[in-house]
Amino acid sequence: MLGRTARSASRRTSTALASPASRPRLPQGAAAAAAAACTCKSLQTSARWAEQQHVKQPTRTALPSDHVLHEAFDTPAAAYAAAPSASAPSGLFNQPAFKTPADFPALAHRTTLRAKVLVERLCRPAPAPESLEQAERAFLAMVKNLDRLSDLLCGVIDLAELVRNVHPDPEWVEGANAAYEQLCEYMNELNTHVGLYHGLKTLHAMLPASTPTKSPALFAAYAVATPFLRDFEKSGIHLPPAQRAEFVSLSTSIIQLGRRFLQNASEPDAREPVCLDRSELEAAFGAAMTRRLLGDDVPESQRQVWIDPTSYEGRVLARHHPSASVRRALFVAANAAPASHVETLDELLTARARLARLVGRESWADVALEDKMAQTPEAVRGFLAALERHNRPRAQQDLEILRRAKAAHLAQTGTGGGRGQEDARVIEGWDRDFYTDLASAAASTSPLPDISPFFSVGAVFSGLSRFFTALYGIRFEVEEVREGEVWAPGVRKLRVIDEDEGRIGTIYCDLQAREGKAPGAAHYTVRCSRRVDDDDTEGDFATHGATTALIDGVQVPRSELENLLVVDPVEWKGRSGRHQEPVVVLVCAFGSSASKGAPACLQWHEVETLHHEMGHAIHSMIGRNEYHNVAGTRCATDFVEFPSVLMEHFVASPAVIALTAKHYKTGHALPESVFSSLLSERSRFSALETSSQIMMAALDQEYHAASVANSGFDSTATLADIQKRYHVIPYAEGTAWQTQFGHLFGYGATYYSYLFDRAIAAHVFAYKFSENPLSRERGEELKQGVLRWGGGKDPWEMIGGLVQNDVVAQGGPRAMEEVGKWGIEG
Ligand SMILES: [Zn+2]
Repeated sequence: MLGRTARSASRRTSTALASPASRPRLPQGAAAAAAAACTCKSLQTSARWAEQQHVKQPTRTALPSDHVLHEAFDTPAAAYAAAPSASAPSGLFNQPAFKTPADFPALAHRTTLRAKVLVERLCRPAPAPESLEQAERAFLAMVKNLDRLSDLLCGVIDLAELVRNVHPDPEWVEGANAAYEQLCEYMNELNTHVGLYHGLKTLHAMLPASTPTKSPALFAAYAVATPFLRDFEKSGIHLPPAQRAEFVSLSTSIIQLGRRFLQNASEPDAREPVCLDRSELEAAFGAAMTRRLLGDDVPESQRQVWIDPTSYEGRVLARHHPSASVRRALFVAANAAPASHVETLDELLTARARLARLVGRESWADVALEDKMAQTPEAVRGFLAALERHNRPRAQQDLEILRRAKAAHLAQTGTGGGRGQEDARVIEGWDRDFYTDLASAAASTSPLPDISPFFSVGAVFSGLSRFFTALYGIRFEVEEVREGEVWAPGVRKLRVIDEDEGRIGTIYCDLQAREGKAPGAAHYTVRCSRRVDDDDTEGDFATHGATTALIDGVQVPRSELENLLVVDPVEWKGRSGRHQEPVVVLVCAFGSSASKGAPACLQWHEVETLHHEMGHAIHSMIGRNEYHNVAGTRCATDFVEFPSVLMEHFVASPAVIALTAKHYKTGHALPESVFSSLLSERSRFSALETSSQIMMAALDQEYHAASVANSGFDSTATLADIQKRYHVIPYAEGTAWQTQFGHLFGYGATYYSYLFDRAIAAHVFAYKFSENPLSRERGEELKQGVLRWGGGKDPWEMIGGLVQNDVVAQGGPRAMEEVGKWGIEG
């Protein structure tokens, strides 16, 4: 649990995928932050909140800082970077230890040495507690030191993780990679450190089960310690030697099979090409378009053409060709899989099932869910079943529109009704996109105008600041960056100011796409908040010399172990002690960049993405905690998307958008009619998409259930069965789409999380904010009742309290079912 993977969204598919038992694990924060660095946008096209009630438009009260904010983000990167620097050159993130790429591995080495001193202290023999009070004190001290150890390592690993993903200079990337690998290797050692495990386990066993309910401090300490213990045990640390060896062997197989599975999932070459007659294309698209589609390589005399179903032309034909037989052939070919791909997945799932049995659980889902809100596979099934019941009538309505479109099309082309002809009552997999396009074209009276000029990056950021001021009493101010502080020109720095507590954190924003930068958006935690004034650092050196420490038999000067990462502790009004401030980075890859005379303007989906990621960032800012392991987004991984998805509801509200949307040339507000047309267009057929997502989440559960260990397990038959039960569109014979469902590896029984958080966010928005999304009073309830706790309080209790629902506040299967009944559309 001392390892971590604070991955970016864009990379998550390739890295955050090692099994919980095998990847370097740091305390719970690891996984949580990985989820916070979300794949959200790649997971699904979300259902949008469609109808808005009429709300009173707020008066725009522009603060002077709004103007500065607006200007700073709308200034071209070169001009911004060239602004005179206020102070002397600095290191990356103002860290003196980070001035050159070589500093990275050097710092990782010193950090490892420093960590060894702390590990030695944690394992030092101590007198057994003689009373419950003494045991509680010893437990709190141990948790504090474990959290400090994890903060020490994460401080460097998180920085390295960011730099290796976003730095444009390959030397820096190399330095960051070296540091990352060095520290992950050490963390892997710690994850199986018997001394650390037994120390914590012994104290934990002395305390009664009711201890966490005694005080918020003990609850938070348990929130840190429990995942530590579970993670240790997930690595088989408590097993006898023979079983331990089997554990290691199975874990290795799972990693290898997982890699192969992901490689297969992204391997388009494995799909068989489809042979079509050129005349079929010419009849549908005309000779000129067919020539353009097939390219110059295919001479017109060639009548039989082979189409790769995963190529551009293959996808165009599968979506737009009016003949069902052409679409069917391409659909089946695109979703079929070689037997070897199916075998790899089946072996992976079986290995996971065996590993779960080995550590005493019934299934892999049991292993994956015990530290989530859901806790058990039965509870997830209850949630999905309730959500499916809620969604089915809506999905049927969507389907009915497609059926009508199909009937009209078949009547028009004379291809329906008769024997051997198309059945208008059934929408097959290969019909869905084709008839969705036809029905959408029929429903749209005129194309929507380009609204991006209303959303310059500066307008969106000043709007966000005004919105957070209205809701939480929190605003952004631009802070000048020092030379060397950031990794690319145009990275902006915001200080985050709370009206009561003063400065509470820092957000760096790296928004524009650039060569070599991964696509997608992510929120990186560079540093979590935690209390630091009660760190007993001197105690770490109690058994060492005054000026040296004995590490692995070598005397190391203490000066080498100090000043690793510089933190200036701060005091916040209303909180005891001094703390380290949270620092996060928002990384996006927006397409437009500012030029002379025109700012960078965002497309609507980019505006939504920015709000989503800002939901994570503000969670990190508000969720300041005693322990870094439960700060901000380091909460249960099936809860971490709630604050960010909630932001998508806010930005779909006219009252909130009125704070933001302003045409950069004319200064005009976005017409309400355009905005409502946009929202209704985006919510079209969303229930059908939800149906697909429910099916995928159910499949993910079934693939990680106990039955996988049975000899007759067949993933394709299971797919067909689950699709029949959960989807309104039938399974297509001959397909084995599960081999392309890459998230099965990374999520492994937790794919439901995103739907789950969507349901919670939709209900919270409808219940608390639909009438007035700018209510300061209700914003304060959300801030104090949920966001400020990070992972330091039971999320069921927090959400149940917020929406005044006792069933939810209790948690468990009934609460999961209740959330499913809410639906995800709000
Ligand atoms: Zn997210």
